[in-house]
Amino acid sequence: MSIAAEAADLFGITLDARQVAQFDQYTQALVEWNERVNLTAILEPDAVRVRHYLDSLSIVKGTPIKAGMRLIDVGTGAGFPGLPLAIAFPEVHVTLMEATGKKVAFLDHVIQTLSLQNARTLNARAEEAGHISHHRARYDAVLARAVARLPALLEYLLPLAKVGGRCIAMKGTTAEEETADSKNALQILGGRLVKIEAVQLPDVPEAHYLVVVEKTEATPAPYPRKPGMPTKKPL
Ligand code: SAM
Repeated sequence: MSIAAEAADLFGITLDARQVAQFDQYTQALVEWNERVNLTAILEPDAVRVRHYLDSLSIVKGTPIKAGMRLIDVGTGAGFPGLPLAIAFPEVHVTLMEATGKKVAFLDHVIQTLSLQNARTLNARAEEAGHISHHRARYDAVLARAVARLPALLEYLLPLAKVGGRCIAMKGTTAEEETADSKNALQILGGRLVKIEAVQLPDVPEAHYLVVVEKTEATPAPYPRKPGMPTKKPL
């Protein structure tokens, strides 16, 4: 199936011919750059479409997407889930945060090649960005896939969300267990679990989960702690 048909079927997302072409250009850039920069083990076009693009678009099951909203993807790597969302939703502002400079160079290349006006990169660690005034508490949706266990990840994500905004962690089979371990982090950082939403992708046997958290209160000033602390000593 094509990305347009699957995005429509699974998530009700409409993609026009230009957006479909942008996904093709993105795949080409992944294959080319992966020879120099370690971006992803998944390069076969059908697998990229399902496991990277459709998986990224599944975020719509965790939050309504509205024109003008500000979204940030923490530890985006080669752009997942933020870049497919920037392609699919030109009216949403997407910030792609990544600590590794080489990956940021790749993302800048893709943004330029695809002429994406609504995406920008941020070469930073979450522990630093969480204390910068124009990033702290400025986002409607804060996303991450495959970055850290949930108790540590919440310390990266919650400081960036507006009160009333959402954090969405894309998880595998450990979603429930990681959520159970995050009660303390949620309480300290000002978050509340909304739901754990299962996502089934075509021809992918294992279920994926979106752990959806609402920011209910301002995160206390000391958080996030200094780089490395959230993973070394999770709350
Ligand atoms: N989210 C992408 C995906 O699912 O394909 C990349 C996942 S990769 C396993 C994790 C990425 O998070 C790496 O590119 C790493 O550099 C970045 N990362 C890890 N800790 C980070 C932090 N504290 N702040 C910013 N980026 C971080």
